[in-house]
Amino acid sequence: MEREYLIKPFLTKQYTEISHGKGIYLYDKSGKEYIDGSSGAVTVNIGHGVEEVVTAMKEQAEKVAFVYRSQFTNDSAEQLAEKIASMTPGDLNWTFFVNSGSEATETAMKVAIQYWQEKGMGSKQKIISRWMSYHGITMGALSMSGHPLRRKRFVSLLEDYPIVSPPRGIEHAEELEVAIQQIGAEQVAAFIAEPIVGAAGGALTPPDGYYERIREICDKYNILFIADEVMTGIGRTGKMFAMEHWGIVPDIIALGKGLSSGYTPIAATVVSDRVMAPIIQGSKLIMSGHTFSANPLSSAVALAVLRYMETNDVVAQAKKNGEYLLNCLEKIKEKYAFIEEIRGKGMLLGIEFSPTILNTNIIDVAFEHGLLLYPAVGGIYGKDENCCLVAPPLTITRGEIDELARRLERSFASYERRMDG
Ligand code: PLP
Repeated sequence: MEREYLIKPFLTKQYTEISHGKGIYLYDKSGKEYIDGSSGAVTVNIGHGVEEVVTAMKEQAEKVAFVYRSQFTNDSAEQLAEKIASMTPGDLNWTFFVNSGSEATETAMKVAIQYWQEKGMGSKQKIISRWMSYHGITMGALSMSGHPLRRKRFVSLLEDYPIVSPPRGIEHAEELEVAIQQIGAEQVAAFIAEPIVGAAGGALTPPDGYYERIREICDKYNILFIADEVMTGIGRTGKMFAMEHWGIVPDIIALGKGLSSGYTPIAATVVSDRVMAPIIQGSKLIMSGHTFSANPLSSAVALAVLRYMETNDVVAQAKKNGEYLLNCLEKIKEKYAFIEEIRGKGMLLGIEFSPTILNTNIIDVAFEHGLLLYPAVGGIYGKDENCCLVAPPLTITRGEIDELARRLERSFASYERRMDG
């Protein structure tokens, strides 16, 4: 090619061209095989090339691929919303479909603000979030994201929503109460958090008791709790939703990524009956919406993904095999001094390297060895780009985990040799 036309993440990098994928494997144009140890961007929860999903996609496309949601409803979106309601805890029974995780968190933020407006408490407009978090790339979602690197260029346009420290100890939950008192509860609409911090924390997992305290504080001050389950939801952590590890029911949940396992773009904002009630009584509509919201094709795909997960007991498999994978990583850690910590739950595991190590250097070596890993920031306040996520499809088998571990070890050994050399 004489020039490039596609804007890729890094404009000067030469990207390998993909050919196809099956299960946990991807193949490039040269025929090289990769284990998708990161499920892409922690997205392909049921693996590549699942026939049932491809069939559902084709069947829906043959019927109708698109209708405008203000003109028609469609059976696939209706059924998908009902399915989600049957999976979510408590009274989280209403779903609004969007196209990306960023839109899901941004819609959650708007619904929270609208809820208080409908209740005659329009001054409650601020959101509180945590440092070292990622809630998306659009301006509202970025305002909530405690991610200095991503905020940097736009900081003067963003709200200062991140206040609370990363959830490394129970004491950090108390910071929420202090923040609410400083701002004034009458100004705060909601607190948003990723149950387990993904790319912004390398699977940083709060201690037991943390979310129990967060829920108490939110209730005490009349503040909604939004769980950003875009990465952790749909079985990724060994429960359908990660908040279930602590028995906490949020008021709003944002979903994305695994909802369609990446087969088509779809994401969702799931809202409780309690939050919807004054909106139904009042404005009678959510002040948001996209052309592609609730489109039949993506809805049919997501429905097929959730049915596949149910039929094949994928969440239970993620829990059981996640423990096995964690064990493998712990064993590898013993052999390499540059690994500081292994953490996470289910199939969302993080490796924190020594602060002096740049994660991309290791990720590049793993790529050469046919293993895909996902970069994450670690350390306090994201100074260190020294983590990676190991997050293969939830459907990975024991034998495949052994192969993943072998490739990981080979990558570490090779990296260590290069460092010594
Ligand atoms: N929230 C979390 C927790 C995420 O991990 C991501 C993406 O990585 C997002 C939101 C944004 O999702 P999207 O990239 O689909 O806009």
